[in-house]
Parts: sequence; C-alpha cells; structure tokens
Amino acid sequence: MVIPSLIQHKRDGGSLEPAVWRRLIEDYTAGRVPDYQMSALLMAVVWRGLAAEELAAFTQAMLDSGDRLSFGSSTPPRVDKHSTGGIGDKVSLLLAPMVAACGVAVPMMSGRGLGHTGGTLDKLEAIPGFRTNLSLKEARDQVERIGCAMLGQTAEIAPADKRLYALRDVTGTVESIPLIAASIISKKLAEGLTGLVLDVKTGSGAFLPETAQAIELAQTMIRLARDHGCPTVVLLTAMDRPLGRSCGNALEVEEAIEGLRGDGPADLMEVTYALGVEMLLLAKVVDDTGEARRQLEASVTSGRALAKLSQIIEAQGGNSKVIDDPELLPQAAEVEVFRAVRDGVVSRVEPRRLGQGIVELGGGRRTIEDTINPAVGFVIPVKPGDQVREGEPIASIFAEDVDGIELGLKALGEAIAIGASGQPTPLISHRVTENGIEAFERTVMADQSGRKR
Ligand code: URA
Repeated sequence: MVIPSLIQHKRDGGSLEPAVWRRLIEDYTAGRVPDYQMSALLMAVVWRGLAAEELAAFTQAMLDSGDRLSFGSSTPPRVDKHSTGGIGDKVSLLLAPMVAACGVAVPMMSGRGLGHTGGTLDKLEAIPGFRTNLSLKEARDQVERIGCAMLGQTAEIAPADKRLYALRDVTGTVESIPLIAASIISKKLAEGLTGLVLDVKTGSGAFLPETAQAIELAQTMIRLARDHGCPTVVLLTAMDRPLGRSCGNALEVEEAIEGLRGDGPADLMEVTYALGVEMLLLAKVVDDTGEARRQLEASVTSGRALAKLSQIIEAQGGNSKVIDDPELLPQAAEVEVFRAVRDGVVSRVEPRRLGQGIVELGGGRRTIEDTINPAVGFVIPVKPGDQVREGEPIASIFAEDVDGIELGLKALGEAIAIGASGQPTPLISHRVTENGIEAFERTVMADQSGRKR
C-alpha cells in the first residue's frame, strides 16, 4: 500500500476499497502505519466522510482488530449504554450498577477523555486502585459473577479504537459522523451485547451540536449495530450546559455516589433513569416504561445499586471505602468560590469552555503522553434560567495551585453568562429507533431544593 496516495485519494473525495480499509486498520494497529499518516487520513475523512461500504468495512476492521467478549447461553441479557461525550456526564457511573442491580448484565467498555469532553475511564481511575485494563477473561468472569464490569480497550479488546481514539483526541479529528459511529459501534459490538442504548448529545458542548447532525449520527449507529444483530435505541440529550453540578474526574465520582444514595441533581438523575428504562426494555426484563422506572428507582432507594458499585470497585482493585468517605478520592490543593458578577438570570453555562478549562487545569490531555490530575474541576450548581444575586457564590474551582485558580476563574467568567432572561432547552429531546424518530415525552423531576429542571 502506498499510503500517501491513499491519503491523497481520500482527500480529493475518492473512496477506498473495503479491503484497503481492512489492511490499513490492521497495519495501523500493528504499528506498521505511523501516527502522522493515520492523522492525515483521519483529517481527510473528517472533511470527505465515508461512503456506506467504507464505513461498514472500517467498523468491521476495528471490531476485528481484537477479540470479543462471548458469553454462555445461560448468561442473562447483556445491555450497555454509551454516550457521544459531554461535560459533567457521569451517567455511566450510576447507570451500570443500577441496571446490573435490576438483573441485567452490563459489560461496559468506555473511553478516556476526548477533546473537551470527559471520559468514563478517567473518572473510574480517580478511585484509588481502580483498574480498567481488564483482560477478556477477567471481564467475562466478572460479568458472570457480579453482573457488571467497567473496562477500557486493551491489546485484546478493540485495540484499533484504543489507538485511533487517543490519536483523534490530539489531532482535531473527533468531529466526524463516520469516525464517531465506527469508534462507538466497534467497541460496543466487541462486548457481545444483546442490546445497546446510546446517548447522543446535542447543543454547543457536543461534538455535533446541531440536532440534524445528532439524528444522522444516531441513525448511522442504529444501522451499523442492526447489521450486526444488535438492537439499538438512541436518546438525544442536551449538552448546551453541563450535566449535573460537578465537572472533573474525582468530583464526578463523588456526585455519582450521591446520585446512587438518592441525592443526585435532578437533571443527572432524569437522564440516567431515561437511559436505564431503555436498557431494561431492550433486555426484556420488563414490559413497560413505568415498571422499568419503578425498578430502577427501587435499585437506588433500596441501596442495591450503591452496593453493586461497591462490588464493582472491589472486584477491579479499587478502594470501595470512597463510597462512605469521599475524602479518600484525590483532593485539590486549592479551592476557590466564583461569584455572580451582577443580579440577573443565568442565560448560559457553556460546556465547551468548561471542558477546555478542565484541560487547562490539568484534568484532561493535550498530548497522548499527558497524565491527568483527577482532583481538578468545577462544581456549578446554577443552570440556565436560575435567578442569581450579585456577589452570590455560584460555582467553585478545584485546582492544583493558585495559577490553576486564576485559569479556573477565567474559564467560569467566560462560560457563565448572566442576563435579563434565560431558559433551559429540553433535557431529552428525541428518541430514535430503527422505526423512526419521536419527540421524547418528558418526566420532570424536582430536585432536593424543590426546583424543577
Ligand atoms: N465516544 C467514543 O467512544 N468515540 C467517539 O469517537 C466519540 C465518543
């Protein structure tokens, strides 16, 4: 293969043969294609897209780059959820134990932070000792024993996505419908699922902000998964403000634990329950949405979901005492309050700027080699539409040092706008299935303060 010619062909709008994609992915995974050539090819894909047969071959090659989890016929239904990425999106940390506590097996393979968004693996690794690089055998045994394993790609499982994901993160090649679809679906198909639920983010903090693009991504992923016999449902959820209050790895673990105790922010819980309902329906352990919701709520009120999280943490070598003592999580050296600059209504809490702020604080990567500081981030209790008074504390910054506090104050100053009016967009706007697109019926939940979100 003459790779520069392939890059030029793709750059100029041509298609590559399925066999060429297979070979490229195999050679890249084996280290025979250098990152600089793959980066150029990925950039050509960002600009030119992939034809349907190219996308199918690319996804299949990613899937075939490693082994798959396979389960015996006696294993219960296996369903997972994946999100296209957001800020403050710690849903997986709550959802996996909740759904496993309802008797559905959840083999969850996640990614690290990508671009300005956070990643489940980085959040899990904020828990002291937590190991995400499980072998296939460890993952399968754990799912069979306790109903859930939360793992990352390894040399055995979806290695092509592991390498490409890290490369895309630092080369400006994330924002592409075929690349996102192939990355997510290849990982998920490697899990041996019987059903898949996807959370496609929309709004300014999403990789694909426009609803039309989000729907196209949703339908692309549904088709790819269907062609491999995996029924898939997608919810479109808002990422024009952060989800929940905490943004940053350790802070988000703490908020997820609060959620499993029944003290989570209303928006986080609403998205988690909505996705969980779809998972229980796909697993066919319930017949209707009302029963699914009741079972999920009972998993929280009974303490079973929190106990399941504790089991998962212990099984993966982590310190489960963090559940009762969050101070065992990494702690920031400096904490500072951010105050409202004027009286008014919060009109914007811009997630993309917050994600960039977390990277500036050291909580995300700029290069593949970067290590991250899990303790840094923001806690932002206000949402668009909230009334605030000048001088009122409306957010906190968690940083490594005083320079970090300065960067955090600047990021919050640019992310949070206060004006005369503001209103949140719908938290969950659409449900997309193989059969079409429906507007989502919203259940509005009041949070602890009685406010509706
Ligand atoms: N999540 C993934 O796993 N891959 C992407 O490309 C984007 C979000």
